[in-house]
Amino acid sequence: MNSLHSSLSALLDFFLPRRCPSCGRELARRETMLCAACWMNLELVGHTDWSQNQHIMAWADYPFVCRAGAYAIYKRKNVAARLVHNLKYRHHYPAGNWMGQLAGHALKDSGLFDGIEVIIPIPITFGRKMHRGFNQSHMIALGLSEELGIPVAADALRCTRHGTSHTHFSYEQRLRHLNADLQSDTDDTISALITTFGLRSHALERLQGRHILLVDDVITTGSTIRAALHALRDIPDITVTVFAWSWV
Ligand SMILES: [Zn+2]
Repeated sequence: MNSLHSSLSALLDFFLPRRCPSCGRELARRETMLCAACWMNLELVGHTDWSQNQHIMAWADYPFVCRAGAYAIYKRKNVAARLVHNLKYRHHYPAGNWMGQLAGHALKDSGLFDGIEVIIPIPITFGRKMHRGFNQSHMIALGLSEELGIPVAADALRCTRHGTSHTHFSYEQRLRHLNADLQSDTDDTISALITTFGLRSHALERLQGRHILLVDDVITTGSTIRAALHALRDIPDITVTVFAWSWV
């Protein structure tokens, strides 16, 4: 059976070569998902103090946020950055689910996910979803869900407003965003300037008193998460843990 399976895999690899979703190189038979070089160069956040780090400090005005964590470190053009980019813009659809499973498995016993009752992915705009065919944060959330056995509430949040103006930001915020623009082209940076989120009417009652895991693919400025926290603030007695697959 094993030899039949490996013969079939070899045949599939011949006709439909698998490629590394980070660098695009054709994968050798024994390589799974990433090529060996990308595995080696993938920079991990590692287990850290999830309740005291630079990201959680930025959301201190939302006291219901208890922890924040990420799986990989995001730097311009590193393995994680290329993976996130290719997932979104080159339609490496299955990678999202795998990324969630990988992070869930690695951090399952780290304390980051303790007490979580429901997973909420950061939504993307209707237009982006139509164009891309999927929401990358939702894919990561599904992978986490499979690994952690926690349900996903994908419809709790929705995008409510878009524009292109920087004018509602302070001078300092504009500078920060401008600097971030120079460093990355992530949705986080772009969304920070244009997106607000709303809570769907059914979610208020359903999420009351729950511990929510808010999931995004990447955190750069943290402003997308801030916008989502703003939308969640009216739910009574919630606790929120923020998780990004990668962060700066
Ligand atoms: Zn690679």
